[in-house]
Amino acid sequence: MGEFELIRHYFAAASCAQGGEGVALGIGDDCALLAVPPGEQLAVSTDTLVAGVHFPDPCDPFLLGQRSLAVAVSDLAAMGATPFAFTLALTLPTVTADWLQAYARGLNQMAQACDVALVGGDTTRGPLSMTLTVFGRVPCGQALTRGGAQPGDWLCVGGELGNGAGALPLVLGQRTAEPDIAEPLLAHYWSPRPQIDLGLALRGKAGAAMDISDGLLADCGHIALASGVALHVERDRLPLSKALVAFLGRANAAHAALSGGDDYVLLFTLPSVRLMALQAEGWPIHVIGRVVAGQGVALLDSDGHDITPKIRGYQHFRETP
Ligand code: ADP
Ligand code: MG
Repeated sequence: MGEFELIRHYFAAASCAQGGEGVALGIGDDCALLAVPPGEQLAVSTDTLVAGVHFPDPCDPFLLGQRSLAVAVSDLAAMGATPFAFTLALTLPTVTADWLQAYARGLNQMAQACDVALVGGDTTRGPLSMTLTVFGRVPCGQALTRGGAQPGDWLCVGGELGNGAGALPLVLGQRTAEPDIAEPLLAHYWSPRPQIDLGLALRGKAGAAMDISDGLLADCGHIALASGVALHVERDRLPLSKALVAFLGRANAAHAALSGGDDYVLLFTLPSVRLMALQAEGWPIHVIGRVVAGQGVALLDSDGHDITPKIRGYQHFRETP
């Protein structure tokens, strides 16, 4: 099958490639054309996933299709943007009908869950990798950035932490577990749910926001730096799933929550007057600490002692000291 036939058959024909709100022209020309209503801005983010680095190779292509789009859309959720379109640049070592069919099905399913249209891409031969660019809309001036945290704000997360990192030994086949432990952890790894609705609910309310992809402490560092504040994380407030604690034990589960990547849960700061109202509306908001004057990130035990670990999150290109 040639390049153009492959694009037509697996991607242009998918239901997620049939356009949608904001898509003036989709797949088939030299560019897609996207429309943003007056008074709104275009939010754009790109993510690359490389086989053997961001996912095991081989792996289930259906699950990979879901995951590759979910992690990209999570960045739009973190900005309080409404996702509406994406492109897919796919590099494949060989063309295998079964693999493409399953990948496109997983992608399509996540696209429908996130209400985004596939509007273009690129298809090349080489070591397996994919780059997804996602597009969202946000009213001018209302995007949630990393820079708005204020001393006195609560530090919050939108869900349980550590499940992505906890799932890794299962994903890599290094360990096994009973279904009641393995299933929720694997589901979290392979089909994370971008917190789009929470991002929209936080518009105009959160001080700073981002999604946790490199580990809680490392990502807190980004907010602290961008906002010019210090963040205090309280270890005993970290929301840990039952499955994670049963799988790793409490101490290792806390370690996964603090330093493991792949959570794709929102991390944000909230003025105290906003917290109760949002929780009363039913949003899954967990307070994990406080914003204070100063700089950097500290981890505190229940007595307020500083127990900050040295190693934080995953960084590509970081040399060992
Ligand atoms: P060009 O050579 O002009 O860059 P291509 O021949 O690479 O265009 O692609 C033809 C059309 O198919 C374009 O509209 C492009 O966006 C789309 N396309 C290519 N690869 C993919 C893909 N993997 N998924 C979705 N659309 C794709
Ligand atoms: Mg062209």
